[in-house]
Amino acid sequence: QTVCAAPLPVLGRDVTVPLVTGGEVTYAALDYAASAPALQRVWDDVAAYAPYYGSVHRGAGYLSQLSTDLFENSRATVAEFLGCREGDQVVFTRSTTDSLNLLAAALPADCQVFVFETEHHASLLPWRDARVTYLNAPRTADQAVATLERALADREPYGPALVCVTGASNVTGELWPVKELAAAAHAHGARIVLDAAQLAPHHPVSISELDVDWVAFSGHKLYAPFGSGVLAGRSDWLREAEPYLAGGGASRKVARRPKEAGGGVDVEWHETAARHEAGSPNVIGVYSIASACKALTEAGFDQLVARENQLIAKVREGLAEVPAVKVLSLFGDDAPRVGVISFVVDGWNSSHFAAALSAEYGIGVRDGLFCAHPLVRTLLGSDPQNQGECGAPEAAPGEKSLNAIRVSFGAGTPDEHVERFVRAVK
Ligand code: PMP
Repeated sequence: QTVCAAPLPVLGRDVTVPLVTGGEVTYAALDYAASAPALQRVWDDVAAYAPYYGSVHRGAGYLSQLSTDLFENSRATVAEFLGCREGDQVVFTRSTTDSLNLLAAALPADCQVFVFETEHHASLLPWRDARVTYLNAPRTADQAVATLERALADREPYGPALVCVTGASNVTGELWPVKELAAAAHAHGARIVLDAAQLAPHHPVSISELDVDWVAFSGHKLYAPFGSGVLAGRSDWLREAEPYLAGGGASRKVARRPKEAGGGVDVEWHETAARHEAGSPNVIGVYSIASACKALTEAGFDQLVARENQLIAKVREGLAEVPAVKVLSLFGDDAPRVGVISFVVDGWNSSHFAAALSAEYGIGVRDGLFCAHPLVRTLLGSDPQNQGECGAPEAAPGEKSLNAIRVSFGAGTPDEHVERFVRAVK
């Protein structure tokens, strides 16, 4: 097995932070699942382009043309990165949340939606106007497929249906059986959208190989800066839907309607991705996503995965040596996962624990319910119907924790960061 010799260069490697114990230390960013540091390569590409940027799709000027080319070439790069099929569209959005809300707004009338209660809120909540079936938390990957099969078999036949599923959990890091879920969805005449926010930074995601209908992901978790995301996949529902935002760029032709015909305006909307990209697009954000896609492809996912698996093993083995630590898992200890690990420490308030990692060791992790309240409550054995909010009161000593600590890492993480983390937990 080939192993990447070194982490990919990312921004922030030399940032130092003060310690409460005195002195300072280089910051160990171990919260990639929230936002990963940008790749140096992405930053360099953006810096090289920045002096030349101009409006997209709007100007005859040289820089405007150059920006338009860059924007559309970025679309082609992302399509290639995602293994898009002939006829698929790549729509640029603000984030995964935005992408899934766009798809929710484009659902055909009477669409039924099927979603596991274990999803991130971005996948759980956008389907408000649809008839939603919430599926119980499965305890194995096979059970996930069986649960979906059963729910789909019970659905009213013939109407449109959509399944929304995450590829890798932002809480446990566990991989979901996407290909099998997609096959189950299609066997019952439903479509499927993959929330790849946590999967795409760690594993290759191919729409055609997984045979999913849409994929959504965010730039800021894929080693690009904030503000841009992707919804890629089948064009029919998107083409038939009202534009996500009404405005310039989405409209091909706008004309005043004669008074005799009732006045107002007649609009012809684009049928391409532009239909859902009204307003001046975030060309820097989009270009940085394309640059990150290229950098990851060139580094090679085989090597990135091999290296990440070594880091995962280091963390898991280290945590296993601390009896007070309980790692959270839905599918069991042996389930394949990405570098996202949540845990609780007996006798510790998770928020205090995370604060101590920062103040005493310069390590940045996350604590809380990770925008997946029902899942985290299930994993902690607390009431999944609990009405508490993010930042709910902590358990008293001896009681079950009400929230958790999450450590997450990826392509830019040096060994020293996870080694320091394990030492600190011990
Ligand atoms: N889905 C998953 C699995 C996530 O982890 C996140 C981010 N935590 C999102 C969706 C939402 O991503 P964003 O905040 O970039 O919209």
